[in-house]
Amino acid sequence: MSPSHSRHSPPALSEDDIVSVFLRIPPDDPARLVRASLACKAWRRILTGPDFCRLYREFHGTPPMLGFAVSYWSRGRDFVSRFISTTAFRVSARPDFFYPQDWKPVDSRHGRILVEVVNTDGTSTGAVLCAKQHCDHLGCHGPPFLVATVVSSSRTTSACVYSSESGLWSDIITLNRQDEINDYGRSWAGALAWAKRTVINLEKLLPPRAFEPKYASEGEYGPYVSGFAQGTVFLSTMAGLFTVELSSGRTKKVAEVEMALNVIPWTSFYTQDHARRIMPRP
Ligand SMILES: [Zn+2]
Repeated sequence: MSPSHSRHSPPALSEDDIVSVFLRIPPDDPARLVRASLACKAWRRILTGPDFCRLYREFHGTPPMLGFAVSYWSRGRDFVSRFISTTAFRVSARPDFFYPQDWKPVDSRHGRILVEVVNTDGTSTGAVLCAKQHCDHLGCHGPPFLVATVVSSSRTTSACVYSSESGLWSDIITLNRQDEINDYGRSWAGALAWAKRTVINLEKLLPPRAFEPKYASEGEYGPYVSGFAQGTVFLSTMAGLFTVELSSGRTKKVAEVEMALNVIPWTSFYTQDHARRIMPRP
């Protein structure tokens, strides 16, 4: 290098400067972090270090949506549930996969998806959540966890909680339907109200077929909201499954599925500490 060139060369970036740049890489496609880590050993050491992975999650705060589980009736009238990745990053040869027949995703939180076997005896729902003490829930993928489930029949509603630490279900709490309705009536009256914030004219954003009704044995029905995550709603239509960003009104078709029944978004940071098995540290 000539003396004149070295005089005008910019100073080398410190490691703190490099970390500051890396922290600003958007988290909604982990491939960006992987590509940066392949540039040189020094960058890879920074990006795969536990300190950076923790800082990255704290910097961005809200885990991004990296995929979603969706249930629908296929054309053969079979009940189908699939996981569909929304990023270009592929952690395995099967980024999108089908759940076993009659399995239905019902909730997702803290890096996990809860599924149930489709129940024809009553309506049920559930929730899964991290049970780790003092956890910030930004990077938890392992145990312990809790599963809360509620099952309703025509007369009663029952609930219980499973703990992965004890491996046991709690006692079942059962209410008759009239008690439940009265309770909600007292609790909700005057406490909450809907307020209109914005209106998005979907007719300008979606193809005409999206507004066609679906004809079923129980009647006909039109497009409807089948899930939501972080300011984005999923809209089930005859033209496929769309996402609509509430802040911008931007729409995107994310699956060729007619009138999806429900959508469970999977949000998580997929930083390289979680990918260490396939990305060993230098
Ligand atoms: Zn947690």
